[in-house]
Amino acid sequence: MRRLLILGATGSIGRSTLEVAALHADEIEVHTLTAFRDAGGMLELCRRFSPKRVVLVEASAADALRTALAAERSSCEVLSGVQALNDVAGASETDLVMSAIVGFAGLAPTLAAARAGAIVALANKESLVCGGPGLLRTAKLAGGAVIPVDSEHSAIFQVLDSRVTEQVHRVILTSSGGPFRTWTREQMAHATPEQAVAHPNFSMGAKISVDSASMMNKGLEIIEAAYLFAMPPERLEVLIHHQQIIHSMVEYADGSTLAQLGPPDMRAPIACAFAWPDRLPWPAPRLDLIKSGPLTFEEPDAERFPALALAKAALAAGGGAPGALNAANEVAVAAFLDRRIGFLDIAATVAETLERMDREGALAGAGGDIFETARQTDAAARRIASAVVAGLADA
Ligand code: NAD
Ligand code: MG
Repeated sequence: MRRLLILGATGSIGRSTLEVAALHADEIEVHTLTAFRDAGGMLELCRRFSPKRVVLVEASAADALRTALAAERSSCEVLSGVQALNDVAGASETDLVMSAIVGFAGLAPTLAAARAGAIVALANKESLVCGGPGLLRTAKLAGGAVIPVDSEHSAIFQVLDSRVTEQVHRVILTSSGGPFRTWTREQMAHATPEQAVAHPNFSMGAKISVDSASMMNKGLEIIEAAYLFAMPPERLEVLIHHQQIIHSMVEYADGSTLAQLGPPDMRAPIACAFAWPDRLPWPAPRLDLIKSGPLTFEEPDAERFPALALAKAALAAGGGAPGALNAANEVAVAAFLDRRIGFLDIAATVAETLERMDREGALAGAGGDIFETARQTDAAARRIASAVVAGLADA
C-alpha cells in the first residue's frame, strides 16, 4: 500500500489525481491533502476521500474546515500555515507525493518531499524551473525520484532511452498553440482574461491557462525538459500540434523518432507517474486515430509568442535567470488576471524584468542552499516586475 500526499489537492491536477487514486484504492491510500484556502472544496474532498490529515495554508480557512469536520465527527487532523505545509510534505508517513501547487509556492514543500526520499510526481513545473537540477539531485541523494506529470515530459520520459541520451538528436515538445494560436498580435493586445483561460483541449487552473495562451507555458516546459533530461538547450524544439494527440517526441541520431500518443487527458500521465515502471489499468478514453482526424503541425510564431524566446534565453543564461523569468511571469499573469495590464504586457514585463536584473548583475544565482538561493532571486524579480507592472498600469 502506498500512502499519497497531494500538494494542491483542490486544483485541477489535484482532483484528477484523486480520481486516479480512487480507482486504485487497494494500492493507493489518500493520506494527506493540502490546499491554499478553499475550505468548502476541501470539505467535499474530505467527505469523499477520508484523508488522515489536511493542511489549509490560510488559518481562517483551516478554522472553518476544522469546525465543519468536527460537526461531522470526522477524525481528520487539520493543520494550517506554510510551516505545516512543509512539515507534512517532508513527513515519513507518505511515500508518494503529487506536487500540484501552482507557482513558486510549490518549491519549498516539493523540496521537503524530495529530501524525505519520496517518489515525487511533479506537475508543478515552476518548482523545477526555480529549484533547478539541485531539486532532482536532492531527490536522488535521498533515495527517491522525481517523475514528470506534465504531459510533454511524461511523453519524453516514456520514450527517452536513458542509456543513450547523448545519441538523442532532438527532443520535440508539442504544444496545442493555446487559445490564441490563430490570433493576430492586434487581437491579442485586447484579449481578456476570460478569452485567455479558455483552453481548447483542457480545463486547467487560471495561471497555467494564461501561460498556455502566451506560450510561456511551453517556455517553462523547455527549461523543465532541459533539467529533467539533462538536455542542452539547442536540442530542444517546440512544434505546434493543435490536436494534442502526440504529446512529445524524441529523435535519435539514426533518424528514428519515437513519439508518445494518447487522448489529451491529464489522468493518463498521472497514472503513468504513479505506476512507473508498471502500468495501471485505467479506463481512460482510448486513442482513436480515425475519429481524431488528421494530425497537423505548425512552427511556433516567435513574433506573436515572444515568451518562448525569453524562456530559451533564460535557460541559456542559467544561474538565477530561469527563476527570475518565472517570478516576473507570475507577477505579470496575476496583474493580467486582475485586468491591470494587457495580455501582451505579460511578456513585456518579463523581458523588462530580466533586462533590469541583468544590468544590475542580479541574475548570477548565488549557489548554496537551493531554496534560499531561489527565494532571493524570486523576491528580487517580484520587486522589479511589480514596479514594471505599476508603470504599465499607469501608462
Ligand atoms: P490550480 O490553480 O487548479 O490548483 C492549484 C492548487 O494549488 C490548489 O489546490 C491551490 O489551493 C493550491 N495553491 C495555490 N497557491 C498556493 C500556495 N501559495 N500555497 C499552497 N497551496 C497553494 O492549478 P492546476 O491547473 O492544477 O496546476 C497545478 C500545477 O500543475 C501548475 O504548476 C501547473 O503548471 C501544473 N500543470 C497543470 C496541468 C493541468 O492540466 N492543469 C498540466 C500540466 C502541468
Ligand atoms: Mg504541459
